[in-house]
Amino acid sequence: MAENILLGGEYLIKETSCEDVFTPEDFTDEHRQMAETTEQFVTNEIIPNIEEIDKQNFDLVVEGMKKCGELGLLMMDAPEEYGGLELDKVSSMLVGEKISYGGSFSVAFAAHSGIGTLPLVYYGTPAQKEQYLEKIISGEWCAAYCLTEPGSGSDALGAQATAVLSEDGKHYILNGTKQFITNGGFAELFTVFAKIDKEHFTAFLVEKSFEGLIVGPEEKKLGIKGSSTTQIILDNCKVPVENLLGEKGKGHKIAFNVLNIGRFKLGAGVCGASKMAMVEGIKYANERKQFNTPIAKFGAISQKIADLTAYIFASESLVYRLAGLLDDKLATVEKGIDNYYEEYLKGIEEYAPECGISKVFCSEVLAMTVDEVVQIHGGYGFVSDYPAERYYRDERINRIFEGTNEINRLLIPGMILRKAMKGQLPLQSEAMKAFESLMTPSFEELDESILFVKEKELIKNLKTLFLILAGTGVQKFMDKLEHEQEILMTAADIAIQIFALESTVLRAEKNYDKASDRKKELLAAAVKIFAFEASENAGSAGRKGAFFVEEGDALTMILSGIRRFAKYDATGLLAAKRTLAQAACEDEKYVFG
Ligand SMILES: Cc1cc2nc3c(=O)[nH]c(=O)nc-3n(C[C@H](O)[C@H](O)[C@H](O)COP(=O)(O)OP(=O)(O)OC[C@H]3O[C@@H](n4cnc5c(N)ncnc54)[C@H](O)[C@@H]3O)c2cc1C
Repeated sequence: MAENILLGGEYLIKETSCEDVFTPEDFTDEHRQMAETTEQFVTNEIIPNIEEIDKQNFDLVVEGMKKCGELGLLMMDAPEEYGGLELDKVSSMLVGEKISYGGSFSVAFAAHSGIGTLPLVYYGTPAQKEQYLEKIISGEWCAAYCLTEPGSGSDALGAQATAVLSEDGKHYILNGTKQFITNGGFAELFTVFAKIDKEHFTAFLVEKSFEGLIVGPEEKKLGIKGSSTTQIILDNCKVPVENLLGEKGKGHKIAFNVLNIGRFKLGAGVCGASKMAMVEGIKYANERKQFNTPIAKFGAISQKIADLTAYIFASESLVYRLAGLLDDKLATVEKGIDNYYEEYLKGIEEYAPECGISKVFCSEVLAMTVDEVVQIHGGYGFVSDYPAERYYRDERINRIFEGTNEINRLLIPGMILRKAMKGQLPLQSEAMKAFESLMTPSFEELDESILFVKEKELIKNLKTLFLILAGTGVQKFMDKLEHEQEILMTAADIAIQIFALESTVLRAEKNYDKASDRKKELLAAAVKIFAFEASENAGSAGRKGAFFVEEGDALTMILSGIRRFAKYDATGLLAAKRTLAQAACEDEKYVFG
């Protein structure tokens, strides 16, 4: 456990020691065992059936889910007293990562074990858990989560579905339509959100067998074709009053807390999918010859492999750092206290900004990966004989569900600023210091004998850059800043790059001394490549943000500050790319796995 537990958003103003971050190199034997069990299951039971599953043979999905239940993969988050395993978040990230190799099946799995199961685990009464949890974590029943409606997606609380107490007081009568419900076609238990008396947003546990629940036809989708996506129509659906979940009017708490968890889990899933897609690209690049040369030997192609490896290393570092933060925080919640899950969820909510970052960064790394993997395949990437085409289609949804990447980008700085307003994050005083350093450039020489000193300096500087931009935005727009979305997006982009880069550097630093010479070289290469990318990405976002918030002399000063704060000396970048690409092509794998 880390000595100093960093709170949510604090990474932007504090330095972290590499000893305080969790990295994949810290996995225990139990973690590895869980990962291996999952990978074997996917390899043996799902991958051979992937085409059949994509033809919507849902029997295979339901069967697969039952096998997951037998293997304990559905009970990671459930309490021991109901047959669950209550494993740490690192374990559930690892399972999510390995399951992602299973294409559409992984979406069904994620919806079932995440948004389908967790509302019951966290908010269910003992009687509700007694009634449903065992069925769900054994895979006997599949679960689904019904929040979205035709008229309310991102604006989830704008739901129109209604619930009215029956005259005899025994049932709520639900009416409305839920849209895009994953597992809709075969789920037996639905967590449904509706407004009691058109006012109190509330969750209900609704069985498929309840009178008035109608499953709509399957949507015809771009990707993840083997996952079920349907409307759920509530036509005077009779739900026993005992099935109200949590408290009347407190459905928003359930919806948002469960989404936070979904976001960090999605980060892990897409990280796994990125690795799988990249390896496919590497294998193809080694095999395919043009001009009598394997295309992997061409710099234009090998550079893609190096960049993808570095970005995936950043994704993975970020995801497991976040898992470690969550586990450390959750370990401080005393088991057995009456409001255990309330405190537990507060612990997760603490890291809501980082959960959003995990979702956005890792889903966009997957997007970049599948795009480049199609490109590496040339025309063969465009036809369905090769898996690259499916990866490309399956990826797209990840930037849309669990809160679109726009919504998450708005939430990241929004939540950080809210913490500052509540006095939980001294952003204002830190922003003042940042402005001072903008006025008084330091010409201190870096001590090159310190490992990754240039990258650490870059991280420090990017934090200053974030504070200057966020500080200027707050000064200019005060509480109206939340309406200046273009500015918030740039602030989010910088905050994302900082968290990803810091996670990358701290992981490499923590593991450098114990690494073999070859591994050292690869770690240094990945750090250099990603530091260059992060400096470019954050610098570009910073410049855009500066033009959005300032003009005249103030703009000139901020722009010159950005030149200074986003500067990174990437000497040796080409050699780093060649080293990393060569290793990836020789080993035909993700070299940090
Ligand atoms: C395959 C699939 C599976 C899904 N599974 C489930 C499920 O199991 N359960 C469930 O409840 N839902 C599910 N969803 C729904 C999903 O969560 C929503 O599609 C998503 O939240 C976006 O809502 P929307 O589609 O209505 O888009 P909209 O909210 O209409 O958004 C359209 C565009 O506008 C942008 N936008 C919207 N509001 C704002 C704003 N305030 N500021 C800036 N930009 C904004 C969005 O980012 C997006 O680019 C699923 C969707 C799909 C496609």
